[in-house]
Amino acid sequence: MKILVINAGSSSLKYQFIDIDTKQVLAKGLCERIGIDGKLTQKVSGRDNFVREDAMKDHSDAIRMVIEALTDKEVGVISDMKEIDAVGHRVVHGGEIFSGSVMIDDAVMDALQQCVPLAPLHNPANIIGIEACAKIMPGVPQVGVFDTAFHQTMPKKAYMYALPYEMYEKHKIRRYGFHGTSHKYVSGRAAEMLGKNPEDLKIITLHLGNGSSITAVDGGKSVDTSMGFTPLAGVTMGTRCGDIDPAIVTFLMENEGLDAKGVDALMNKESGVFGISGLSSDFRDLEAAMDTDEKAKLALDMFAYSVKRYVGAYAAAMGGVDAIVFTAGIGENTALMRAAITEGLEFMGIKIDPELNKIRGEEKDISAADATVRTLVIPTDEEMMIAMDTARLAK
Ligand code: ADP
Repeated sequence: MKILVINAGSSSLKYQFIDIDTKQVLAKGLCERIGIDGKLTQKVSGRDNFVREDAMKDHSDAIRMVIEALTDKEVGVISDMKEIDAVGHRVVHGGEIFSGSVMIDDAVMDALQQCVPLAPLHNPANIIGIEACAKIMPGVPQVGVFDTAFHQTMPKKAYMYALPYEMYEKHKIRRYGFHGTSHKYVSGRAAEMLGKNPEDLKIITLHLGNGSSITAVDGGKSVDTSMGFTPLAGVTMGTRCGDIDPAIVTFLMENEGLDAKGVDALMNKESGVFGISGLSSDFRDLEAAMDTDEKAKLALDMFAYSVKRYVGAYAAAMGGVDAIVFTAGIGENTALMRAAITEGLEFMGIKIDPELNKIRGEEKDISAADATVRTLVIPTDEEMMIAMDTARLAK
């Protein structure tokens, strides 16, 4: 079975074409500048990148060009569109409606529209991507896979905010959590690596990338997660502030003359390790500068400390922890941050082996011999997870 995975943004669209039987990525690519001019780049292992610059006035044009690239005689990987058995769409927000992946039909499309106010920047693009596929590939099953779905198992005491209850009833203000596909994938892989049933494990998954989130996975289910109503909450991130005293928002409005949009931009785009260092949101730059630049060092210290706090909090929330998992750009690649986050946690059985920690982007148990909690590095694969869910539902 061959699955096309689509991740549609407002002016871009990422795709992967996956053979689910062999778990092989046949092709992957990116459409950029949709509605502006248009550029498609497709990568097929062992071949030169294929680039096509052509007008993409909307997402339908982009999807049409994706199919042309996949079926092209010279640069393609299939001979006919009919070889696409199903399409899996990444959808950012499923609200309280979706606790798992779903086959898309009219009722689901209506429900997706209802979730738009919760993710006004992302969900409309996802919906447009689905509509474009339905138009171009009528009859091909389409599946929606939600960033929020995995976290729908959180107990109410974990997802409610202590605001007046009617704020939840009226506006659905609560913790949703994000990166669910990644947390689900790496916690599942962790159980496989440990040779245990997910039901028997308490795992803390650390998705540390441009946006970062931490999840407590108890018995295979998300029971708490650091992102909240939006992806701004939780740990310090590349450009997002993470958890701050909420009163700072009104203070900034009054004392910096910022309106709602201004504060939103400050917290989302000008904060995090970028805001502290004044240098970069990229950990490679910060690590290169940390020996001579105090603020770069402070930004890294703050990041590691904010993650460490969640490890402690979630071990307490679950009454123990069997394994912690590092994933995403930072978690997979930086030995320095893995060491800084786990340092001092020996008291709870977490201890890494500095030699084993010297890896990048590969699956590995990096625990010290005398650790009682396993520390694993597991590269995330959200597209494969989306493809697997899509194949399961479309069968
Ligand atoms: P996104 O949230 O955009 O998917 P990623 O998971 O790709 O983000 O993570 C991107 C971040 O990972 C970069 O901003 C960078 O800080 C970090 N990163 C990637 N590679 C390395 C590396 N080799 N060393 C340190 N940090 C890295």
